[in-house]
Amino acid sequence: MVDSIPMSLLITPGADGRFGEFGGRFVPETLVPACQELEAAFNQAWNDADYRRELDSLLAEYAGRPSGLTECHNLGKQLGIRLFLKREDLNHTGSHKINNVLGQVLLAKRMGKKRIVAETGAGQHGVAAATAAALLGLECKVYMGAVDVERQSLNVFRMKLLGAQVEAVHSGSRTLKDAVNEAMRDWVATVESTHYCLGSVMGPHPYPFMVRQFHRVIGDEAREQMQERLGVMPDAVVACVGGGSNAMGIFSGFIDTDARLIGVEPAGGAAVGRGQPGVVHGMKSYLMQDEHGQVQEAHSISAGLDYPGVGPEHSYLASIGRAEYPTVTDEEVIAGFQLMARSEGIIPALECAHAVAWISREAPKMQGKIVLMNLSGRGDKDVGQMMDVLDGKL
Ligand SMILES: *Cc1c(COP(=O)(O)O)cnc(C)c1O
Repeated sequence: MVDSIPMSLLITPGADGRFGEFGGRFVPETLVPACQELEAAFNQAWNDADYRRELDSLLAEYAGRPSGLTECHNLGKQLGIRLFLKREDLNHTGSHKINNVLGQVLLAKRMGKKRIVAETGAGQHGVAAATAAALLGLECKVYMGAVDVERQSLNVFRMKLLGAQVEAVHSGSRTLKDAVNEAMRDWVATVESTHYCLGSVMGPHPYPFMVRQFHRVIGDEAREQMQERLGVMPDAVVACVGGGSNAMGIFSGFIDTDARLIGVEPAGGAAVGRGQPGVVHGMKSYLMQDEHGQVQEAHSISAGLDYPGVGPEHSYLASIGRAEYPTVTDEEVIAGFQLMARSEGIIPALECAHAVAWISREAPKMQGKIVLMNLSGRGDKDVGQMMDVLDGKL
């Protein structure tokens, strides 16, 4: 392992919540005390051995951690690389999201809150939040754009089975960014009793930092597993980027190594690749905007990556050149999805098929290299959609 890049790149933001020029806390006056209370409670809990023990035992006994590390012998051979998958798809509820919600809902309970609110796009974070709320005995309300409620009816029903209330949001484009606005509005009005369980490394401070800390377990485990298995660090660490939580989770384990850090964005939602710095949802970050500075709609085959912004720490890592944020097209994603299924017997979530797509495209330039990919979730939820996309072509 080469220690040429300092661990200090993994920033612990100060009270201003900044990662370089990015991040911050751009919220209405009424929410400033709530963010401060949350920041203090998180810092206190994170340094409290009792809280950490309780969280670790939930991660182990409920979520199924540590997640495995699988070498893809078939696909690796085909591509001329050694390819390893960090298996977040094997966690309870099928993705990395459980790491964050267990941390936050446990924290909410410790803060004496009786209720959580959450936003969701494709429904995966909503399902995870409803799961943690059911387990830990809190009330749960999930805001979801009306368009997404229609597209993701199975996840809506799942949340209801778990005892959550799902509210369709009819404002704006009736998708994820509108659901975030509604969840924040609810939080402003109910902050005494309610915690806002935000689903990615975004929003006002302390969320981007706190959510990264909850997902660090992905990178910390993977580093240990790579060390044990190979005795060397990977040449590249690859993850898909929506808000950026699964990517920050795995990047944080390798930030001080020589590994290239690659966050793959959808071509239609390239916040870093095509965006400009702007302020949205309480943070300053790269953001897709039109010529008038209005937030643009993101479009991707994967509803989980349909977000016009990105977490501020990714903007920082991009601005200093530590991480790269290439894009892939929907067509490449569909091919990547099938490639992983057929060569390894693993149906990936459409989100992580973005990472597969980038790896298979770039493999000719990475011959003989060791590549670690975060398989952030399983693809069961996407099978219906792929049935339409591949209509009769199998
Ligand atoms: C939600 C989700 C994502 C996107 O969110 P990030 O915060 O960017 O990780 C990626 N993969 C899966 C499987 C998801 O469910």
